[in-house]
Amino acid sequence: AGRLAGKRCLVTAAAQGIGRATALAYAAEGATVIATDKDVGKLADLTAAGLTTQGLDVLDDAAITAAIAAAGPLDILFNCAGFVHQNTVLTATDAEWDFGFALNVRAMWKMVQATLPGMLARRHGTIVNMSSGCSSIKGAPNRFVYGTTKAAVIGLTKSVATEYVSQGIRCNAICPGTVDTPSLGDRISANAAAAGSEEAARAAFVARQAMGRLATAEEMAALAVYLASEESAFVTGQAILIDGGWTL
Ligand code: NAD
Repeated sequence: AGRLAGKRCLVTAAAQGIGRATALAYAAEGATVIATDKDVGKLADLTAAGLTTQGLDVLDDAAITAAIAAAGPLDILFNCAGFVHQNTVLTATDAEWDFGFALNVRAMWKMVQATLPGMLARRHGTIVNMSSGCSSIKGAPNRFVYGTTKAAVIGLTKSVATEYVSQGIRCNAICPGTVDTPSLGDRISANAAAAGSEEAARAAFVARQAMGRLATAEEMAALAVYLASEESAFVTGQAILIDGGWTL
């Protein structure tokens, strides 16, 4: 039996990148996985792989309520959805601020709010939240709104962990360095002009990691499996760095 045998999990932003790798890893460990994303079309191959898939835009409160009601009793919630704005305190717009907080923070609150009552009723549940090394842990250039929201994710995580530590609920945050995912490709393209070329923009992201390479989404999924499983039964409220030495 796998490390998550018999567990029921819901993953947000599961269509690509870390969410997708984690949904597949949870399934490989024997869990029943409900893989959700706002982009239903990109979930098709997960359906083919045997996962339950469900369209879910986490900015839609009513859709969250409906998806959690339909999901059945959940043991594990992985809140992966998030967006990376590239801006500074001087260049950020109100729209970027509002969108960053709505997706990276408020939607996470609404997902936890919808899921917790069921977990509390069974006195059992594990919540994994996606933060970043760029948060309250570390600053990064051109990541003003992003780092501010990901710091809030750590605060949210510690609040949930503290409130329910004696009721069978654990809540932890994953804080990655730079991970090779489709949206990183978008950020590299956006920086190519300033860096001189696409290659130079990519090299700048690689250089941040002391190990001299980017992380894979599968490396993030391995931590998400650990935090979801009983192996981490004594771990709660933690912001766990997985950053290839970025913060050394
Ligand atoms: P990604 O950015 O490539 O993909 C994001 C996915 O989220 C897409 O499938 C998209 O459809 C989905 N999505 C976007 N808005 C949504 C919404 N409103 N509701 C539901 N789904 C939505 O994936 P990634 O790079 O693996 O990032 C996933 C998470 O990891 C994000 O929270 C990100 O901030 C965080 N993170 C990424 C890195 C990195 O270097 N890639 C580093 C640290 C943290």
